[in-house]
Amino acid sequence: MNRITGSTRICGIIGDPVEHSMSPVMHNAAFEALGLNYVYLPFRVHREGLKAAISGMRALNIAGLNVTIPHKMAVIPLLDKLDLLAGRIGAVNTIANENGELAGYNTDASGFLQALRAQGVESEGKRIVILGAGGAAKGISFILAEAGASLVILNRTLYRAKELASQIAQDCQRKMEAMTLNEANLKRAFDRADILVNTTSVGMTPDVDRSPVPGNLLGSRLVVSDIVYNPLETRLLREAKAAGARTIDGLDMLVWQGALAFEKWTGQKAPFEIMKQAAIKALQDEK
Ligand code: NAP
Repeated sequence: MNRITGSTRICGIIGDPVEHSMSPVMHNAAFEALGLNYVYLPFRVHREGLKAAISGMRALNIAGLNVTIPHKMAVIPLLDKLDLLAGRIGAVNTIANENGELAGYNTDASGFLQALRAQGVESEGKRIVILGAGGAAKGISFILAEAGASLVILNRTLYRAKELASQIAQDCQRKMEAMTLNEANLKRAFDRADILVNTTSVGMTPDVDRSPVPGNLLGSRLVVSDIVYNPLETRLLREAKAAGARTIDGLDMLVWQGALAFEKWTGQKAPFEIMKQAAIKALQDEK
């Protein structure tokens, strides 16, 4: 752990709950590796405490905060500036204190895009199948559409998929498809698809034997990304690998969102590998 001095800068995460967050271990490992006089702390903040927490960030001159459930939307009106992408998505997961002005960003979405790019996967002109229409799907769908992909959104609850597709179509001026998540629609959606992204929680611990896609539908021409990171290799990724597909796990998105936040707070390039190893160790220690 870094030595705390009179000039230590503070970063942290606000949410409820925050106990299982990987962010403290990732960021403190990064600060230590780069010899930066920063510390990252978890702050459990109830819904009613959000306004006071943001006032506290200003009063205490906290350098940066991550924001998690349930505050990602509610925090927006409390900030001074909002990044264009975060405004479009309607959710903030990173606040940077920029000379006393609190600026809101969405590094969940940009972290996902970065995770694809780091594997050499570009989204422009690609046909991408998104499974899910919840909070994570929204940011990911917006950034992929902005990057020039065409999207097919499949969700268990059809109206949510439709709502998301029409919101994105309106903002990005392009047609997006929405369907119910079932085998027949998956088959149709996979026709001509380049990339599959699972943003549902299906397959997450403890339901590790479940997959949102029957294994026989997966083929080698798809890139398959699962944003679930616990377990690291979901059933979907295991079956995609067995079918010869390239796979991208959820930990890369998690670490990239942290790395991008780190860079906003410190102005330094984040030590991605060190953050990733710290997160892997924390996941293993949790077991
Ligand atoms: P959310 O807003 O609650 O959305 C959950 C989504 O999963 C909805 O589309 C929901 O469909 C679907 N779903 C849930 N159970 C299902 C089931 N049994 N069958 C089919 N669909 C089901 O959650 P979120 O915040 O988007 O998070 C989703 C997952 O992504 C979680 O596992 C979370 O840990 C992970 N995540 C990872 C990262 C990362 O950095 N890697 C970041 C954020 C989230 P309905 O609309 O029909 O309910």
